[in-house]
Amino acid sequence: MSRRLSLIGLCLSIAAPVMAEPVDILITDATIVTMDAERRVIEKGALAIKGRDIVAIGGADLAASYEADHVIDAGGDIVMPGMINLHNHISMVAFRGLGEYEVENLLFDVMFPLEKELLNRNLIHVSARQSAIELAMGGVTTFADMYYHEDEVARATKEVGLRGVLGETVIGFPVVDSEKPYGGLAYAEKFIQDFKDDDLITPAIAPHAPYTVDKEHLLAARAISDKYEVPMLMHMVEFPDEYEMVLERHPDMANARSEIAYLDEIGFLSPRLLAKHVIHLDDADMDLLKERGVGVAHNPKANSKAASGISPAWEMMKKGVDIGLGTDGPMSSNQMDILTVMHYVASVARLRLHDARPYTPLELVEMVTIGGARALDKQDDIGSLEAGKRADLIIIDRDAPNMQPGYDVYAAIAFGAYPGNVLTTIVNGQRVMEDRKILTIDVESHDAEWKAVKDRVKAFAETLEGGIRNER
Ligand SMILES: [Zn+2]
Repeated sequence: MSRRLSLIGLCLSIAAPVMAEPVDILITDATIVTMDAERRVIEKGALAIKGRDIVAIGGADLAASYEADHVIDAGGDIVMPGMINLHNHISMVAFRGLGEYEVENLLFDVMFPLEKELLNRNLIHVSARQSAIELAMGGVTTFADMYYHEDEVARATKEVGLRGVLGETVIGFPVVDSEKPYGGLAYAEKFIQDFKDDDLITPAIAPHAPYTVDKEHLLAARAISDKYEVPMLMHMVEFPDEYEMVLERHPDMANARSEIAYLDEIGFLSPRLLAKHVIHLDDADMDLLKERGVGVAHNPKANSKAASGISPAWEMMKKGVDIGLGTDGPMSSNQMDILTVMHYVASVARLRLHDARPYTPLELVEMVTIGGARALDKQDDIGSLEAGKRADLIIIDRDAPNMQPGYDVYAAIAFGAYPGNVLTTIVNGQRVMEDRKILTIDVESHDAEWKAVKDRVKAFAETLEGGIRNER
């Protein structure tokens, strides 16, 4: 001991004192996929996190300038921006796997009866927490959500430590959090006031769709979005027969060229709008979305599973529409990870266009990182790894067999990676998952609450025709 002390004393006396800057987390020996403007990939890179921010990013020599409470030696693994899932209804995980056997109309025959009988604050909260765990374990750090009692989704999201853009639903009939139609407007306003300054939650308003919300209430939702400067989330041109469905609630639309042209004419389209699905539209509609700065969430797994169609997402991207990827709720697409959506996006576009060229791996990785951030208008805070931005990042196991040989890191991520390859998830500077262990909540007590939710749902689903399994 004395020898060591004297050696340190000697070093101090002869070397110029280099003060290492204290930080909270230091990641070393990483393959850093920055997604910055130059799309730099830094081999053997280092990244320092202090509080909620990335304070430095660079090569191996950077590490010596920082002293951290917590050092993560990435051993060559990939460090990339946390992924963004632009469309979800995470509390519906309680109903995942129901109505999968030749149900004629999933929405009306299974989903609405389940929601009517079972939804309450507890189910929404516990299920949201369950989904947030799944999202974190799949490398999603930010997600957009639309549901009821969205304040419960917000609380669960904060418990797990994810970033959420959460929209309270506005719909033209009575639902769990409102006895009268369109009660979501007042609910949303209170929710927005309560969470407006939250570090992780961006409260939003979510008119469900033009076929469930009339003109007056669409415009009322837009007014709230403008007043509080919060996002507006809505399903749009999702179904092949949607025009007829919308016409019933909007007779004025008969004079408009299309649903999107009509929404523009009434003054609904806005740069704060994030439109979900956006499948059945033409070239002029796409130009209109670009002109109005509308963001788009492309959810091809849910859309193909429901036979709704394949969005011309590729064409929208080429026109410069801000477009990212989503999954839709766990009852529609079942899986909530965004990693495996990238492969699917390219595959269905290539089938649709009979052309194997659309989407480079880099373009796909852009869609789940900086592209998704742009669609949410959060590109100044998240979506790339740069000093001064929030520390939202994930570590992907580069040694996993399915990630080998990994000559091109973008191809390995976009076409090869599975959610289970995500080792560590950090959001707003907080370690949410490390080495595949959730650190932010007591998982055991969560599991007990989740089991009670599942038992209750199962008991009712067994009484519902087509709920668990058809006899056919
Ligand atoms: Zn949806």
